[in-house]
Amino acid sequence: MRVLELETENVRNYVNHLFEMVKSRNPNEVEFHQAVKEVFDSLVPVLVKNPTYIKLRVLDRMVEPERFITFRVPWVDDEGIVQVNRGFRVQYNSSIGPYKGGLRFHPSVNASIIKFLGFEQIFKNALTGQFIGGGKGGSDFDPKGKSDMEIMRFCQSFMTELSKHIGPDLDVPAGDIGVGAKEIGYLFGQYKKLKGAYEAGVLTGKGIDSGGSLGRKEATGYGTVYFVEEMLNEKGYSFTGSTVVVSGSGNVSIYAMEKAMELGASVIACSDSSGYIYDPNGINLDTVKRLKEVENKRIKEYVKAHPESTYVTGWKGIWTIPCDIALPCATQNELDFESAKHLISNGIKAVGEGANMPSTLDAIDEFLASGVLFAPAKAANAGGVAVSSLEMAQNSARIFWSQEEIDAKLKVIMKTIYKKSMEAATEYDFPGNLVVGANIVGFMRVADAMIEQGVI
Ligand code: NDP
Repeated sequence: MRVLELETENVRNYVNHLFEMVKSRNPNEVEFHQAVKEVFDSLVPVLVKNPTYIKLRVLDRMVEPERFITFRVPWVDDEGIVQVNRGFRVQYNSSIGPYKGGLRFHPSVNASIIKFLGFEQIFKNALTGQFIGGGKGGSDFDPKGKSDMEIMRFCQSFMTELSKHIGPDLDVPAGDIGVGAKEIGYLFGQYKKLKGAYEAGVLTGKGIDSGGSLGRKEATGYGTVYFVEEMLNEKGYSFTGSTVVVSGSGNVSIYAMEKAMELGASVIACSDSSGYIYDPNGINLDTVKRLKEVENKRIKEYVKAHPESTYVTGWKGIWTIPCDIALPCATQNELDFESAKHLISNGIKAVGEGANMPSTLDAIDEFLASGVLFAPAKAANAGGVAVSSLEMAQNSARIFWSQEEIDAKLKVIMKTIYKKSMEAATEYDFPGNLVVGANIVGFMRVADAMIEQGVI
């Protein structure tokens, strides 16, 4: 016992030392530090049992991106004025497949955001069981308030540079915040023009007529709900008859709401970055889809169509609404310690992360300490990238699967991620802790491939 304690202490010191190095090499990148800390803390028991990972410096290598590209994106707005944005792509790890991960267009995008997302993507992609490495990219371009032609010109300029670094067997981007089927369409069109070839597998999340997959649009939201349902069922709970609060009203939120409703839940609130709506009768999803997918309007417009609902300015207050299940599906660090306390005192049963890193580290600790069922993003929202990988498979084989086929595959993938994460958590003495379980499963798959491939 004493020997094990000593070994654990030594490994903890090694991990802490490595984390300090990451911080000094990447100063001021707080989101990146947060993502790394969460993973490092989970891996101590694996490193104690498998010292080869330390001997071969697997973690030291994994935390350093294989490549990090930044580039200028000049474009001309509707007034004829030249605008300049910054583009990013991190090609983090290609041990188990071509780099794979979305593009985010949002003014908050910087190196820290891209690196945190890219680092998490390594483990998430490994968890899916598919053969995809980790990558991420984006720009500080803000699509809000831009005309379609401005968005198109920006996408064309962005792709003119990005095309030098991607390809169906090299790096396959997709959408994320601010990048949906429209932007992917413009990006794909420009890539095709530059290459002079129809390489459909270079991007995923494409429109169906451009080689996209049925079920991709719904995959992240549906997958999150499938994962949470597994977690609930194990404790005798279910979405059926539960009240649910979902933050955001974008791609992930809308389809998480849709599936939760299909399973018999009452979704009573959702939001955008300006505020949230509360509808005691249950959100009318057709109205949300019309406002967000068709008319590009703010969520506060919802109350005009549903006078019994209320709108509150500011997005954080959504977590003060009593509910059984919370699904944060908007953005990073949207659910902090104080919000976690509110949810817990209101009797929350489960939290499922549809967004990437939506909960702060102290919020996660609080949920786990209070016995709240907690589904971490890397596992719970992996359905999006899993179906992206199915899109790549269809593009390679020149076949087209039905919605039912995709949905059946997605369900199996989400169930398998849940099962494997739970098993790893138990094996490494953190029973029920899906944060630890998911990090361990993702890490070991990538680490073992890295070892097989030598020091590269
Ligand atoms: P969208 O752009 O479609 O929607 C984002 C939603 O979140 C919008 O309602 C937006 O409101 C809201 N939002 C954005 N920033 C903030 C903020 N600072 N505060 C409050 N609300 C905010 O993006 P997605 O739905 O695609 O992505 C949402 C999350 O899910 C992200 O964390 C993303 O990384 C993650 N994710 C997405 C996947 C996908 O397949 N799309 C896959 C896996 C993870 P507003 O319109 O006002 O900005």
